[in-house]
Amino acid sequence: MAELDYEGFWKETLVQLRNDLGEEEFSGWFSDLKYLRAGFDEQTNDHSIVIGAPSAFHRDKVSSRYKSAINSTLKKLSGENIPVEFELSKKNEVKPEKKAAEPHQPVKKDEPVIEKPPKSKAKREQHLQLRDDYTFKRYVIGENNKFPANAAIAISENPGKAYNPFLIYGGVGLGKTHLMQSIGNYIHENTDNDVIYITAENFLNEYVEGVRQNTMKSFKNKYRYTDVLLIDDIQIFTDKDGVQEELFHTFNTLLDAKKQIVFTCDRPITELKKFPERLISRFGLGLMADLQPPRYEERCAILKSTAEGIGVSVPNEVIDLLSNNISSNVRELLSSLTNLIAYTQLMKKPISLEIAQERLKNFFNAPRQANLSMDNIIRVVAESFGLTPNDLKSKKRTQNIVLARQLAMYIGRRMTDYSYTEIGQDFGGRDHTTVLHSINKIDEKLITDPTLEPTIESLKRSIKEFSVRH
Ligand code: ADP
Ligand code: MG
Repeated sequence: MAELDYEGFWKETLVQLRNDLGEEEFSGWFSDLKYLRAGFDEQTNDHSIVIGAPSAFHRDKVSSRYKSAINSTLKKLSGENIPVEFELSKKNEVKPEKKAAEPHQPVKKDEPVIEKPPKSKAKREQHLQLRDDYTFKRYVIGENNKFPANAAIAISENPGKAYNPFLIYGGVGLGKTHLMQSIGNYIHENTDNDVIYITAENFLNEYVEGVRQNTMKSFKNKYRYTDVLLIDDIQIFTDKDGVQEELFHTFNTLLDAKKQIVFTCDRPITELKKFPERLISRFGLGLMADLQPPRYEERCAILKSTAEGIGVSVPNEVIDLLSNNISSNVRELLSSLTNLIAYTQLMKKPISLEIAQERLKNFFNAPRQANLSMDNIIRVVAESFGLTPNDLKSKKRTQNIVLARQLAMYIGRRMTDYSYTEIGQDFGGRDHTTVLHSINKIDEKLITDPTLEPTIESLKRSIKEFSVRH
């Protein structure tokens, strides 16, 4: 039997997961994994795909967090069940290509290593924390985002002087990270300024580590003496007093020195609960701009530009189909496109409307996450309102609880296959007409309240993330 090769499927799985998880989470867990071989069990005749992890810790974490997501992606791509198995890679098997990016002469063992020539005039190397495709060139500007995008361009051309600090906010998957990293890439490429990009989560982790290991001094120096500081998803700092204090001082030092600060947040800063007033008022000194969901024309433009970037031609009717069906989240929109491209490439077929319709159905109907239970949905929604699941199941009727309950029902109906009756059961045995009524209420509110749709999208994303882990 010819040796099976599943590497193509693995690579496409990575593309999908990168889209689904977002860059930060993806690179933390997946960039050190390596395709090893196709596995075959002679007794059961079962195939598998064997992936190498750099450490036992890494292997166990990836396996417990992502195995089901990987398996369902593999299944979607291949149409077969090819479960993934993890092994420890041997040291030298990991990341063999890492050094290859740096052009270098082969060095004989005993020769002294020559230092790199000064790179003053040469083009700077790609920034290590920034994705090279998150650039203005790849960012489609439309009515929905022209205000934040133009501000970002102005800042890139004049860091520290145009708008400082700059806060980009908006729902999940709307392009905050892409826009922020475009600023970083532009400044890094065109000036000698030092740019730091970090997710708020990593900033928090480094801070905690700094406190624990008594290395706060170097932590402070690192962040207070950079030229450009980009911190992604600062809603994570909610409720974290210590790091908020540190952030406040970093903020002041940088602003005083006219160094550029850019933050992103998934909601307006004033809606962050338990965020100190003095920190919020610092944002008032600069500019805050929100990203709106793209409209139909913008969705088409984003799909076309992405397809062009990949070098694939996609018929207009397919662009139209995807743009019409996926409306509120660019990440999902692009993920449907890459899914379609991956599938047609693997099957060696051209992209057609027929295949797109078929795949689109799978893309949405396939249970994208394990454990998408009403319980998880209720938990995440309750928590985001500062409530408990029991509040949502109770008969209490304060405004906040009623809204959270309605949203959880609405999202439950959209994300799962449960009927109105089943959903009612999960909310303390309510009647199906109550569920229906709640969902209608949210539909009405969606028309009048423009902030509701991003809130729902953000909740859905949190629910998916929560479900992968539990
Ligand atoms: P967020 O940080 O708001 O959750 P991201 O910046 O991660 O969103 O964007 C999600 C995906 O959508 C990324 O692949 C990004 O490149 C793409 N994207 C978002 N907005 C645009 C745009 N205006 N033009 C091109 N691609 C976009
Ligand atoms: Mg982001």
